[in-house]
Amino acid sequence: MNAHATSTSMPRPGHRMVPALIGWPGRQATALIECPDFCHIDHVKDWAHAIEDVDHYSDFEGWSTDSILQPGDEVISLTTRVHTDPVSENPAMRQAHVIIDDGNRGSTCYLTPEMGERAADELIALAADIRNAARAARQCNAVAGRGRRNRRTQQDEALRRVRGGAV
Ligand SMILES: [Zn+2]
Repeated sequence: MNAHATSTSMPRPGHRMVPALIGWPGRQATALIECPDFCHIDHVKDWAHAIEDVDHYSDFEGWSTDSILQPGDEVISLTTRVHTDPVSENPAMRQAHVIIDDGNRGSTCYLTPEMGERAADELIALAADIRNAARAARQCNAVAGRGRRNRRTQQDEALRRVRGGAV
């Protein structure tokens, strides 16, 4: 395979030229490709069958939680990262955009930067809702706990009175 045509061209702003290993094992060649600054992929180690298969990804950021019923298990997870697919037919996919992935269910969602900002604002609001729900649950448990303690004290006193009277 000949060196890719971009090997002598200057990268666009926000990009750098990096080596990429292209081709089937045994018939691979290194090409210089334009890679955005956010990309953390080693395009030699993560080789591709064809130059069209090379995608660029930033590192993952993620959140997950286990559950009362499944302690230690990743029951719900969300990850996000930046992505470009330079040869996509969809211009919005060729541009840098945001991926949100719900790990366990395997859905991948591609968001323009504007859609990503809207999702972020909505998730910040949801985070406040989760905090409010936790506060309400904690208050319910605390009040119910006080009620239980009071009831137990009253039962103990009633029992003492009965026993006292029986003696
Ligand atoms: Zn890259």
